[in-house]
Amino acid sequence: MKIAGHHLVERDPYRPRCEWGEDVTVQWGDCGSVFSPHGSYVTAFFEAFPKGFFIRGEGKTVSDAELDAFIKYERMLACGNNHQWRRGSYLNGGAHCRVCGQFGTPFKPINPLGHMLKPLTWWEKRALSDHDLWVEKRFIQRETPDEQKLFRQLRLRLFLFGWVNKEGEPQPAAKEAALVGKG
Ligand SMILES: [Zn+2]
Repeated sequence: MKIAGHHLVERDPYRPRCEWGEDVTVQWGDCGSVFSPHGSYVTAFFEAFPKGFFIRGEGKTVSDAELDAFIKYERMLACGNNHQWRRGSYLNGGAHCRVCGQFGTPFKPINPLGHMLKPLTWWEKRALSDHDLWVEKRFIQRETPDEQKLFRQLRLRLFLFGWVNKEGEPQPAAKEAALVGKG
């Protein structure tokens, strides 16, 4: 077990009691806020970070919270590498194990098909015009690679849905336009 550095001071006397694995980093606090639809409350918490995972326990005291977290940790260990992941409504690669309840990110994110194949919204058009990026040559020199990708996608969608370029710039090749759908 590795204790997070900010606890290694004299005024924080709490030390974990459970047998956490060697590579598990832990931290805790006696006044974590929890926001829920049924009302917010303050609780002691204990958090553990086994490799690739996050576990949080709560309770009246840090000690209770550690026990709560440790029960989840043992349940997770019992699954070993045989978690039964269920994606549920997560699109970001996240899933819960249906056996131990642990959350993880075992999957690649899902990109809904055709999410690029739609006309620009008003604010997307606005983004292009605000940045004066209707003409490709201008943004290539000026923006970061991520912004270039974003604006290239916006421009391709703009062409795909029938924008006529008044400055006489050629339409992008059909092949390039087809790539828009692949994000
Ligand atoms: Zn599991």
